[in-house]
Amino acid sequence: MKKSIFKKKEIKKDAARRELKKQGYKKKEIRKIEAADKKNGAKKKTSLKGSAYNKSTETEVPGKNKVGSKQLSETASKRIRSDRSGKTAEKNDRNKRTKTSAGRYTAPGRREKIFGRGDRLKKDHEKMNREPAPSVRIIPLGGLEQIGMNITAFEFGDSIVVVDCGLAFPEDDMFGIDLVIPDTTYLEENIDKVKGFVITHGHEDHIGALPYVLKKINVPVYGTRLTMGIIENKLREHNLLEITERHVVSFGDIVELGEFDVEFIKTNHSIVDAAALAIKSPAGTIVHTGDFKVDFTPVYGDAIDLQRFAELGNEGVLALMCDSTNSEHPGHTPSEKAVGRHIDQIFRDHADTRIIVATFASNVDRVQQIINHAYKYGRKVVVEGRSMVNIIETATNLDVLNVPDNTLIDIDQLRNYPGEKTVIITTGSQGESMAALSRMADGMHRKVTIGPNDTVVFSSSPIPGNEKAVTSVINKLLLKGADVISQDVHASGHPCQEDVKLIYHLVQPRYAIPVHGEFRHLKAQAKIARSLGYEKEDIFILRSGDVLELSEDGAAVREKVQVGNILVDGLGVGDVGNVVLRDRQHLAEDGIVIVAFAFDAQTCELLSGPEITSRGFVYVKEADDLMTGAGAVAEEAIYRCIENGVTDWNRYKNVVKDGLSDFFWKKTQRRPVILPMILEV
Ligand SMILES: [Zn+2]
Ligand SMILES: [Zn+2]
Repeated sequence: MKKSIFKKKEIKKDAARRELKKQGYKKKEIRKIEAADKKNGAKKKTSLKGSAYNKSTETEVPGKNKVGSKQLSETASKRIRSDRSGKTAEKNDRNKRTKTSAGRYTAPGRREKIFGRGDRLKKDHEKMNREPAPSVRIIPLGGLEQIGMNITAFEFGDSIVVVDCGLAFPEDDMFGIDLVIPDTTYLEENIDKVKGFVITHGHEDHIGALPYVLKKINVPVYGTRLTMGIIENKLREHNLLEITERHVVSFGDIVELGEFDVEFIKTNHSIVDAAALAIKSPAGTIVHTGDFKVDFTPVYGDAIDLQRFAELGNEGVLALMCDSTNSEHPGHTPSEKAVGRHIDQIFRDHADTRIIVATFASNVDRVQQIINHAYKYGRKVVVEGRSMVNIIETATNLDVLNVPDNTLIDIDQLRNYPGEKTVIITTGSQGESMAALSRMADGMHRKVTIGPNDTVVFSSSPIPGNEKAVTSVINKLLLKGADVISQDVHASGHPCQEDVKLIYHLVQPRYAIPVHGEFRHLKAQAKIARSLGYEKEDIFILRSGDVLELSEDGAAVREKVQVGNILVDGLGVGDVGNVVLRDRQHLAEDGIVIVAFAFDAQTCELLSGPEITSRGFVYVKEADDLMTGAGAVAEEAIYRCIENGVTDWNRYKNVVKDGLSDFFWKKTQRRPVILPMILEV
């Protein structure tokens, strides 16, 4: 019983502290007020009513308003400094409140777990006698039905912050579609509230849709160094660089966006400079992990800032949105360094062949390891594939990639070196048909010919759905005599089960919201949360468009907003809808037949035709009989119309279409698209 009263106070204290912080008070000043209030409270034994907290809400603190985003960089770093310096004193205080008398550790967010049923009822009763706690809305606009198109809006009052803005690659039945971007109608309708995009890292499924969405919602973009470097490349291609406000954020910085404070936390992932976010609003803190892994020996930079996750956990976290991609895999995700050992082995075992390594362009750490080993074994490095060249240039300029002098050579210089003295780093590890490696495998590459003197290394595992394409490329390479290695040369960038558990234990969220993955992945993480003692009703598997309202009082999906896929084909954004897609599918499955005939407009006399051509239906040269038969059917249909005195050309078209459709179905069991064309002379 004693426990619960103690907890209750702490929650209120937190809320009051936030209130003071919002008014611009420094930590030191807040502690003073708290101390004074404690004295008062001891005498009066009251709750917060009439305490120093409430008095202070009426006091305006001049010059301490929120900073506009423009002045952000300096102020943000200043804020973080003062934050860190006040840490020790606060920590002592915090230790005191998070240890229960039994010595058991409980975070504020998990208090329900240690309550008995009676306590819970009492709490509900107390709830009725006070104002409802403020609530924050989480609105995923994509990313929960597939791996890709990650974009989530966080809304509090008149502020919306959007985390990530990714694209998805088209499904097999989206013929001719280049990429898929999210429907952002909800953001467009609330554009006045949208304060900015905060980006976790530079992968396509998190930034790819930015250039398209920024054209409609031009708000500032916040991201870490390499993330912003990659975004800027994209904006340049779309002529958006000049008109987009961009802010490079360092780890530990807090960005103020309306009612939200967003803190960037260092993580590890298969790209440098990945960040998790602590999204703080008056309703509480939401921790969004972004894509991450726990790597104690990363190739570049520091390990994930687990300390900060733990500190946030101590401060109290309302909800955790955690990467689910690998939630089906037991154990820990291996370090990127482990891949380095395999690469070293490959270089030693294949000292007398050329080595070609295919990997993701964005996996700068992997590229770095390959370059390091090439240097170690005295090989020159060629970089092939447009996206690979772009990223390496960006990463080198930002000093997150370190290429030793005289290591990189131009692809034209390849012939000046023996094969065993070169390494080619290339795109195409997913079997993408237009990528450099596929062109090499097809014998279509202008500069590289694959032969028995080649060892090709796939340093990535196929993304679900790409397995077939990858196998096909591997077979072609093997046929050309190359040695192909695809085992153990990759470490995932996402957390396995034990890593997920670690984060849950550190962050101690009140609610669990699995994100980033197909339904099965989200489900797998929900299972992990259950195994950690979370109640079913505290775990939310959301669908895109769900509006989850969260507060200290509870959480529920309240409504739905419009979401969907916008298809991008070439320069057209959204002009390919379901009808066009259905036609494309139809064309792809059964082909097209065109029937052309010419009429005398005056006399309604058939002058020529019907002439029948087809594409993708049957090979005409071997289907003479079929085509002659089809011609007869069309002609008969036309004469039937003439005899009946039909004058409407559309009627002619339909009669011909129906006649041919029946004929082809009877003869071939296929339904090609039939396109009658009438020429009036
Ligand atoms: Zn991702
Ligand atoms: Zn990623």
